[in-house]
Amino acid sequence: MPEGVSGRRVGSSAPLASTTLVIVGHGSHHDARSATPVYAHADTLRDRDVFADVRTALWKEAPSPRSVLRTVETDNAIVVPLFIAAGYFTKEVIPRELGLGGQSTPDVDGTVRYASPVGTHDAVTDVIVERAGRVAGDRHLGDDLGLAIVAHGTERNENSAAAARAHAARIRDWDRFDEVRALYLDESPSVGTLTDHFATDEVVLVPLFVAEGRHVRADVPAAAGLAEGSGDYAVPTDVDGRRVWYAGPVGTDPRLADVIVERASEAAAGTDNGSDRALAPSTDRHASSANGRRDSSEMNRRDSTADGALGFRAAAREPTTRSGRTFLRWIEAGRRGTEAGAASRRSPPSASDPEKPRATANARRTRSGGRVMRTWGELQVAGSTLADGSRTYELRHEADRGATPAALDRLDRLRDLRDRVRVDEQGEFRPLRSAPTLPTGWYCPGLDGATLVRAVETVYPATIADWAREREGSLDVTNFRATADRQTGIYDRVAALDRSAVDAVVRTCCVDDACLKRRRWEYDDGEAVDVPRVNGSFPCHEPCSMVLERARESVVDGAPVEGADAPNWDDATSDDVDRSSSRGDDR
Ligand code: SF4
Repeated sequence: MPEGVSGRRVGSSAPLASTTLVIVGHGSHHDARSATPVYAHADTLRDRDVFADVRTALWKEAPSPRSVLRTVETDNAIVVPLFIAAGYFTKEVIPRELGLGGQSTPDVDGTVRYASPVGTHDAVTDVIVERAGRVAGDRHLGDDLGLAIVAHGTERNENSAAAARAHAARIRDWDRFDEVRALYLDESPSVGTLTDHFATDEVVLVPLFVAEGRHVRADVPAAAGLAEGSGDYAVPTDVDGRRVWYAGPVGTDPRLADVIVERASEAAAGTDNGSDRALAPSTDRHASSANGRRDSSEMNRRDSTADGALGFRAAAREPTTRSGRTFLRWIEAGRRGTEAGAASRRSPPSASDPEKPRATANARRTRSGGRVMRTWGELQVAGSTLADGSRTYELRHEADRGATPAALDRLDRLRDLRDRVRVDEQGEFRPLRSAPTLPTGWYCPGLDGATLVRAVETVYPATIADWAREREGSLDVTNFRATADRQTGIYDRVAALDRSAVDAVVRTCCVDDACLKRRRWEYDDGEAVDVPRVNGSFPCHEPCSMVLERARESVVDGAPVEGADAPNWDDATSDDVDRSSSRGDDR
């Protein structure tokens, strides 16, 4: 049984072993580092084998909270928000996007529990103190040292500042520092008047943020007087006659993985104190879905390769979801041998799949040991038969179809594949996973059926589940108007866009050179977007966060110029800080 960072034993791990943990974070359209703590803690917990499976979702990236539950393979899921405060995101945005409030069609046929945010846990207080001691070079924390816990805060939402205040109060009680203050970027008391709040000669700043993003790298140091603008700074730095130390954000601390387990255990046991919960302890949901349940034998077969060695084949596994099995059958019905090399990535494997009538003949070839190939977006999937008769699969960029293994980087873990495809050929961040910018030069060999599905979903999150739903006629499509109407904060203004403005957004975002998904959503019921759909491999069932961002920009800055270049998301003007939100920021 794991032990939490605060020294307490966490709840029974037995229910967790049959549960999928979903870690939800903020993410970014501009900075790959925003999601790093989410992935790092997920990797740690996969290695520990505490949960049946560990999934991640991001507000600004894929898979979104809207999509992640449809990829869950177990009956039970626990969602833990990797956010700092019990505020706007954790109480409103994330539950709404997960569909936990009953506003949308449930995505799993089982139980989903929603935990309290990580940042409000008492154990984070220990992390703050340890971080302060480490950066100041004194783990025992001597005299004449002040501690400033710096959080985002906003005067528009009282909960945003509450976590920092609570941690500061606890540390004050411990009498470890001469002075302890909670300071904020966006409300009083401000980190901009840092030295006014301390009489000590030395002050250590600990940023109460999840990620090493722009706030931590630039905004806090600039406001505290450590750096001019977004320039470099030394640690420690003299500020108004005081020596100021600056620690890393708490969210990147490895012990946050323990806090995530504790939050999940609380939710599983129903022992969450409820003081900062967004929802009732559990939300039972029963609805048909393309996902389907694992049977009990599959449930007991732990996913030892879920994110471990891709080529591990001690027990070749088949996909455990109906959508995964459908996908594998479709792969096996693919073109034989090198014929697939001529297949266009635009070949739509949809309900009207032109290859479907040939499935029986192709399956016969497969059983006789034939090699099959398919393209999926920019991926090439190849299947072949091993000497023991089992099927094995390989994944690579379709542009590398003729490359020898020696010419490619072999990726043996899903996390290596994930990190590789988060950036393009030039190493630039790819916030839109379905952008036609997948890097070349790698391959993943020796995949069994289950791991192939996981690998494809690592490159193109949630696409198999949506594609399978489309094939069986159950894809849930949400049009622009319905998506816009549920938005809050800085995105509520997108509801003001009329159809012609949305047409312009679609012309810049949902087109061949910007996205490989096939848009299925329209402006509204009975009012289509006046832009032809691209012939993408997999469907897009609702406007993504990128389109909402471009829509928001068009409200603020005017409609996009028709025929403009595909959007460069790295240059987008959006402020991830959400400073203009009327609800605040609880990252
Ligand atoms: S909304 Fe448009 S850009 Fe976003 S995933 Fe769908 S098709 Fe692609």
